[in-house]
Amino acid sequence: MTDDPIPGADGPELTAANVLDVDDDRYAADSVALVTGAASGIGRATAVALAANGCTVAATDVDADGLAGTVDRAAEIGADGTVQPVEGDLTDDADIERIVDAAAQLGELRFLANVAGLQHVAPIEEFPAEQYDLMQAVMLRAPTLLSKHAFPHMREAGGGAVGNMASVHGHYTTSDKVAYNVCKFGIRGLTQSLAAEGDGDVRAFSVSTGYVSTPLVTGQIPDTAEQRGLTEQAVVEDVMLGQSRTKRMMSPVEVANLFVFGFSEHAKHLNGGDLLFDGGMTGTYE
Ligand code: NAD
Repeated sequence: MTDDPIPGADGPELTAANVLDVDDDRYAADSVALVTGAASGIGRATAVALAANGCTVAATDVDADGLAGTVDRAAEIGADGTVQPVEGDLTDDADIERIVDAAAQLGELRFLANVAGLQHVAPIEEFPAEQYDLMQAVMLRAPTLLSKHAFPHMREAGGGAVGNMASVHGHYTTSDKVAYNVCKFGIRGLTQSLAAEGDGDVRAFSVSTGYVSTPLVTGQIPDTAEQRGLTEQAVVEDVMLGQSRTKRMMSPVEVANLFVFGFSEHAKHLNGGDLLFDGGMTGTYE
């Protein structure tokens, strides 16, 4: 994204050449990957990357227009697999069940990528309870229920995996993001619970990154600037990338490639673990 005005957001774009190409017998049209948050950012890139590897992708989101864009993107890059849009709201239990049913009708449901999420920036004294509940519903309750409904299909298919989008905020915390921090620590707990119950046939893993150049991040820059009394430029350079040794944001396709690897046979010993790709953010300091 060389024309992106965000400093440091110049990583690889979502093109065929930048998608990790994995040779895996299960990366074929009869394998269905259900991807949430697939209308935008990391979810879109994950849906397209799995389709490019040959899977049939059930792409779900509340944003129907965004899903159409994801279908188009997969076609534009000549993906071998198809992307089927399944519109739905992850705060609705009936929708969650319907989404899994729709995915299972496309073939053998083997992979589930829980990516959908949202952010809200506010100090704890002012944090709206309804916003906290919404974030818990989308980022913890829905991944749990989707896994609950997908597990029987994965066992029936002879095995599968759940990949959960966590964050550096599932490893350490920052101020004014209490709900997000709690959700991301929680999803690592969910990941380990799924690994415990998967009997080795159904694996689970999480993906933790620092800042990725998506609408979720660009949308929070003005709020963080106001909360901290900084310019937007300073938020990006000092707050977001300040502790990272790698001085650019990840791009969505770089994160998508972690899901491609994590679902593949090359990751058969990745079960309950976390792919921490944070540019050194959480393990180092100056
Ligand atoms: P994004 O805003 O680009 O995409 C999030 C998607 O989730 C949107 O398409 C949105 O419509 C969907 N969504 C939200 N609420 C929904 C609901 N009720 N039902 C169905 N879909 C819903 O964000 P992104 O940056 O791609 O983030 C994706 C995930 O990655 C999130 O879980 C986020 O916490 C995580 N993450 C992001 C970053 C980052 O820097 N962008 C870093 C680490 C982790």
